Amino acid sequence: MRVAGPVGFDLDMTLINSRPAIMAAWQAVADELGVSIDLAEVDRRMGIKLEDEVAYWFPATGRADAAASYRRHYVRLAPALTFLLPGAAAALGAVGAAGELAVVVTAKHRVSVQPSLAAVGLQPDEVVAHVHGPEKAAVLARLGAAVYVGDTPADMAAGRASGVVPVGVPTGSFGPAELIAAGAQLVLGSLTEFPSWYAGFRYDLSMQSGSWE
Ligand SMILES: [Mg+2]
Repeated sequence: MRVAGPVGFDLDMTLINSRPAIMAAWQAVADELGVSIDLAEVDRRMGIKLEDEVAYWFPATGRADAAASYRRHYVRLAPALTFLLPGAAAALGAVGAAGELAVVVTAKHRVSVQPSLAAVGLQPDEVVAHVHGPEKAAVLARLGAAVYVGDTPADMAAGRASGVVPVGVPTGSFGPAELIAAGAQLVLGSLTEFPSWYAGFRYDLSMQSGSWE
């Protein structure tokens, strides 16, 4: 297990509360295209790629237009409806203060990532966009990341698969038990607890240096 290296963060419901913007964008898609979309169902799956969610509501021939509609509405709505989750800025700061890179690894398309980050003033060192599940695991391995922080079981499984320490936050649609069952090494109450946990993680690293691989 790597203990030094970049720290990856999921974006939606880990660093930012994007739920209001996501739900408003889906409602706008439903209104524009005349399709009934169950927002509660969308909410339960939040964290997957847009293309995969679109497939639940549109036939194959309409999916590209639906995704384009969603992104257009999302970029318009994100500035007013995106909120920083407690502790997010300090968590990125703690990683930087330790001399490591804070990297956002997200299923969101880059087109939607930038207005979301700008809305809350977050500035990660790097962004890897449009990856989910096993793709996140591949990115974390390529980065040589030490930790991945996320809010979904898929995030925890990706962390576990890539050999990083998967850290859960219950600020999305999933509770601690579900995140632990999916492979979380620990679940913080929120990112406000991240800096002290990370300091301890780094301290343990310095104590064990030479004894780990
Ligand atoms: Mg998420």
